Amino acid sequence: MRRVDLHTHSTASDGTDDPAALPSLAKRAGLAAFALTDHDTLAGLPAARAAAEEIGVELVAGIELGAWQRRGEMHVLGYFVAEDHPGVNRTLADLRRGRAERIHRTVERLVAAGAPVAVEDVMRIAGEGSPGRPHVARALVAAGHVGSLQEAFDVYLAEGRPAFVPRRELSPTECVALVRRAGGVSVLAHPVTVAAEVLEKEVEALARYGLAGIEADHPRQDEAFRARVRALAKAHDLVVTGGSDYHGGAKPGVAMGAGDGSVAVDYAAIEELRERL
Ligand code: AMP
Ligand code: FE
Ligand code: FE
Ligand code: ZN
Repeated sequence: MRRVDLHTHSTASDGTDDPAALPSLAKRAGLAAFALTDHDTLAGLPAARAAAEEIGVELVAGIELGAWQRRGEMHVLGYFVAEDHPGVNRTLADLRRGRAERIHRTVERLVAAGAPVAVEDVMRIAGEGSPGRPHVARALVAAGHVGSLQEAFDVYLAEGRPAFVPRRELSPTECVALVRRAGGVSVLAHPVTVAAEVLEKEVEALARYGLAGIEADHPRQDEAFRARVRALAKAHDLVVTGGSDYHGGAKPGVAMGAGDGSVAVDYAAIEELRERL
């Protein structure tokens, strides 16, 4: 089996590894290929590609888009996306502006909740990356308000907690359309985050709209859930994919190419996705 990882993040979004560092990690993990799928940005791809070519590992140009945060979260992955489409890049810049504004509102709520952090600190942690809750979580740990990133989510940042602010987001079909506009194919990320009672209906609607695949292997999905995903894929003619959702130090215990040890994706997934282009 030639292994691949179709879901990874870098400092271009909320991962902690430089995009140029990911290819050597992929190589060391024994992977033939990996996809960089940063949230709402393509900015890490040029550096990742240069390093991938030098090291001799295949890079799939990817992205992860947030589709909604109701009844769970729906995320859509895009693969084989063009980086130079002006309309696509305008939309992505809009989404990132929304993320930056959201940091301000999140910080206001943290102040009100008695856990003040500075917007500047969050933005410094985010650096060039598209800012998100994991950066706020790191600021909360650094300020001593919580002991861990997970505690930051559990106490303040998760949906339903006092500092949760919804993200500006595209609808699921807008995500698929944006990926298509960039010349790519779409895959439903970690379907376990979609509320169970709406999953089937959402997958059916998205498949009709041109969704190409769905993630089965993912650290947050157990074997029983993966079996359900494979059945859904079969019913709606979707490619079964998977990935670690590697975030470096932002997700301890999740390794490139393997996740928690339960993720093993064959190169065939990339070939099948390419056939859907
Ligand atoms: P954002 O894009 O700012 O909404 O942040 C989403 C990211 O935060 C996800 O990609 C996860 O890495 C992380 N995340 C979301 N919810 C949780 C949670 N309940 N516990 C830990 N991490 C989470
Ligand atoms: Fe993330
Ligand atoms: Fe995601
Ligand atoms: Zn992800």
